[in-house]
Amino acid sequence: MAYSREQDFLFCSMCGTLLSFNSVEFAECRSCGFKRNAREIEGKEIRYTITAEDIRRELKLEPFVILESAQIEEEKVRRAVVNETCPQCNNPQLEYYTKQLRSADEGQTVFYECPKCGYKYSQNT
Ligand SMILES: [Zn+2]
Ligand SMILES: [Zn+2]
Repeated sequence: MAYSREQDFLFCSMCGTLLSFNSVEFAECRSCGFKRNAREIEGKEIRYTITAEDIRRELKLEPFVILESAQIEEEKVRRAVVNETCPQCNNPQLEYYTKQLRSADEGQTVFYECPKCGYKYSQNT
C-alpha cells in the first residue's frame, strides 16, 4: 500500500527514514536521530482520522501504547488475601488475583503470591 502525503509526518524530515516510536513522547529516526514530538503526530491523527492503531498495523510498529495500557491494567488488578499456606516458607496467607486470558475458552488464571518470601505460582481454573 502506498503512503499518501498525509502520512509524511511518520517519516523523518531530515532523511526520509520511517520514524520509530520508541516512547510515548517521541518518534525517532534511527538513521539520523531526528526526533518528532508524539503530540504533533497525535494532532495529525485526529486531523486525518487515522488512529494510532491503524498506523501501527500498517507500519508494523511495536504497539507501545497497547503495552502501556496493559501495564496500567496490571496495576489495577485487585489483590485479595487467601488462607493458603505458602509452599516455600509456610506463611499462612497468600495474596491472589485473577486474570482473564485473551480467549474466553481458556478461562481464568489465578495467581498466588506470598507477601513474605515473594514466591509466585499460578493455577488455571
Ligand atoms: Zn533521519
Ligand atoms: Zn512464602
